[in-house]
Amino acid sequence: MIGAGLPVGHKQYLFLFSLLAMLVVIPAVGAEVEGVRLWRAPDHTRLVFDLDGPAEHKLFTLQNPDRVVIDVSGATLSAAVDNLPLTDTPIAGVRHATKNKRDLRVVLDLKQPVNPRSFALRRHEALPDRLVIDLHDRDKVEEKTIEQVQVSGQKDIVIAIDAGHGGEDPGALGPGGLREKDVVLAISKYLQKSIDSNPGFSAKLVRTGDYYIPLRDRVKKGRQLRADLFVSIHADAFTRKDARGAGVYAVSSRGATSETARFLAQRENESDLIGGAGDLSLSDKDDTLAGVLLDLAMTATMNASLDIGTSVLSSLGSFTHLHKKKVEQANFSVLRNPDVPSILVETGFITNPQEARRLRDPMFQRRMAEKLSEGIVAHFTSRPPAGSWLAANASRIDRKHTIARGDTLSGIAARYNISVADLKKANGMQTSMIRVGQTLTIPSG
Ligand SMILES: [Zn+2]
Repeated sequence: MIGAGLPVGHKQYLFLFSLLAMLVVIPAVGAEVEGVRLWRAPDHTRLVFDLDGPAEHKLFTLQNPDRVVIDVSGATLSAAVDNLPLTDTPIAGVRHATKNKRDLRVVLDLKQPVNPRSFALRRHEALPDRLVIDLHDRDKVEEKTIEQVQVSGQKDIVIAIDAGHGGEDPGALGPGGLREKDVVLAISKYLQKSIDSNPGFSAKLVRTGDYYIPLRDRVKKGRQLRADLFVSIHADAFTRKDARGAGVYAVSSRGATSETARFLAQRENESDLIGGAGDLSLSDKDDTLAGVLLDLAMTATMNASLDIGTSVLSSLGSFTHLHKKKVEQANFSVLRNPDVPSILVETGFITNPQEARRLRDPMFQRRMAEKLSEGIVAHFTSRPPAGSWLAANASRIDRKHTIARGDTLSGIAARYNISVADLKKANGMQTSMIRVGQTLTIPSG
């Protein structure tokens, strides 16, 4: 109140009032929702509001009928919401209105109840401030982890294939609108097929469609699957357009082995800023935990990762240019799993116009997948884990070996513990000539 002793006229009162009103209202005239996007994942639906600035929001649910209500303080909506792909989602319709003359209220009419969760993502590079609403499906029978009673000696070798990025995180962008998330999903699907064609192997996709999975959930999935290997597939960008070649990476808690490795790890770890990790403070905790685990228990896992990486690299080397001839190491979040050997494969640089052309070609994608598969299968075949079907049957399976640079016939024979004569016989060879890329049958003992 204004002091009683001060003589204040009517007009002055009005002036003061409008001044006060302006002071209150102006900062609240806030964000504009410029875009609304929607992605459907197997277990949840994600809505993203693109804002031209940060805004506070509240979310709550109502029943009979089921609705989710999102109030965004001081916001207006300029984006269309009637063209969202609602098929296969729990959302029947989207309505919006202005509340208290200044807030935006968005109502999602539901076909069935959901468990909603929301969080804000701050502006990041070209991406605007965003409000993310995840609607988790209810009553979904928890996806059965591979927990079938494993008859001793019958366990499949499980490969978890993680197609990088997805949903609102497109990954690196190439010429002509080529997106990393699409290329790597295609390669991952071919890879699954190729691995599954080997007896004793079972491949699972971590991401099956176009949606985002936070990095730590990808790692968790690998553990839930009790995977023998987690392989993350990427096709990245580099600051230099002429950077080219495939590369294989493993995690390191210490420094990166090269500038490229450090750069790529930084980029990949940014994924959660783009796609959203939900609660970023939690992932900080994970960092500390991962640091401790890395030091204590990860040495064996890291060594296995390097071994598998080497086998994959040698298989790739027979088919495509390699960025580096050795498995490189850097601190990739997605590879930090103390229990599961994990590698990250950069299939090529999407920013290099020549490689982009190949990466979009389904023939190349399939061939790349087959080479990755060969490298993975070769590793486990030469060292089948105890208790696996492969270990029990190794002596009865013919194996394949693709010639890499530097291979010799006697070297290959020694590696598989067979004679050069048997090797030549199994492949109908008259001479000891071999060429890079040629696939040999390794006869069973
Ligand atoms: Zn990537």
